[in-house]
Amino acid sequence: MTNDHCLFCRIVDGDVPADVVHETEHVLAFRDVSPKAPTHVLVIPKRHIASLAETDDGDTTLLGEVMIAARDVARGAGIDEAGFRIVANTGGDGGQTVHHLHVHVLGGRALGWPPG
Ligand code: 5GP
Ligand code: ZN
Repeated sequence: MTNDHCLFCRIVDGDVPADVVHETEHVLAFRDVSPKAPTHVLVIPKRHIASLAETDDGDTTLLGEVMIAARDVARGAGIDEAGFRIVANTGGDGGQTVHHLHVHVLGGRALGWPPG
């Protein structure tokens, strides 16, 4: 259930290369092409969902798997004890630019708050 016109679906399908750091049956994690921190990984469901706003109550397990994968990415990068940030930009005001649900895993430096 991928979408030929979606960049992240094309990564799932192997049509666009990516530096994959973690993969499960339903979830893929790969390095952001334009990293904003020493660790910057995107965690996505393999199934195309446009954004968090497009999920439904039946996606509870899948969303849990995305978050557990984000935890495992942080552990794998060795940033889980120092701390890290999970971000899910959603929709226009949220600054989402790729319309396939993803969470950013950011860490490896002290992160400022609030975001712009
Ligand atoms: P958003 O702005 O939607 O929250 O995040 C999209 C992210 O995807 C951005 O941080 C951007 O750098 C990243 N990105 C855009 N195109 C590609 C790509 O082709 N490969 C990878 N690995 N990341 C990408
Ligand atoms: Zn997609």
